[in-house]
Amino acid sequence: GIAADETALDRFEAFHAILDEYNARMDLTAVLDEDERVDRHDLDSAAPLAHGLLMPGTKVIDVGTGAGFPGMPLLILRPDLQMTFLDALNKRILFLEDALARLGLKAETLHARAEDAAKMAAHREQYDAAVSRAVANAATLEELTLPFVQKGGVAIAWKGPGVAEEMTAARRAAFLLGGTVRGTVDAPIPGRDDWAHVLLLTDKTGTTPKAYPRKPERRTENRWASEYGREMNADEAIDRIGAHAFADAKDEWEWMKKADLLLCEAKRAGGQGFGWISK
Ligand code: SAM
Repeated sequence: GIAADETALDRFEAFHAILDEYNARMDLTAVLDEDERVDRHDLDSAAPLAHGLLMPGTKVIDVGTGAGFPGMPLLILRPDLQMTFLDALNKRILFLEDALARLGLKAETLHARAEDAAKMAAHREQYDAAVSRAVANAATLEELTLPFVQKGGVAIAWKGPGVAEEMTAARRAAFLLGGTVRGTVDAPIPGRDDWAHVLLLTDKTGTTPKAYPRKPERRTENRWASEYGREMNADEAIDRIGAHAFADAKDEWEWMKKADLLLCEAKRAGGQGFGWISK
């Protein structure tokens, strides 16, 4: 379980009131009844704490925080966290600044696209953890979060039950970005089995190459899961030869080219793609 003291409970109540106040004049979040809001937003956001994932004083960035999820519940429950709220939409950042001041909480806010902020020295590889909920598919999330995380840190993405289908692409993306997918842990919400999330955990095991994150227009959503991924068992290929063979590839394109060459060689030799190489 997750413990909430009196101060935290008061702050949740106040935060909900501020959300309602803003929602009455602008479209900030879907309006839910109070029980659903507590479960769907607050408890869901707090899931990493149930897994002991954020040590005291952890420096965290919430990428695409929207109206403050998961960052605000995490900060309310754990004011020791050094939280940065990032969103591309200024109205959400202004809302969060007002809410933080009224709740008496200290945090940084950043109005920027993740792709731009992650290129700034003040933010690149400066965080122990990056969290992100409902922002993009798993592979793109790796690209939007890992560049912020320093070696030894972790990226935490909230995902639905469909995450299994995104894992191959996520692993590939993480590898290219200097990370290693650790796996998923369940984030159950009592009595809400129908919409419980999982947390996708990716360890930052290296350095993110300069080319990442790419501008959105250069990021083809399904490139990570290209035909290579389907033709060969990409998970296995990456596990077996990925780090070894491609450690020096400077970007995704070079990586693909090398993968292509290896695949051609393997086929010429009468093997079946990476199955042959792995022998
Ligand atoms: N994380 C919140 C939640 O779980 O309720 C908000 C989710 S909302 C569906 C997606 C948010 O991500 C929006 O506020 C949007 O502005 C922000 N966003 C999407 N792509 C982004 C990017 N590349 N950089 C920064 N913010 C982004």
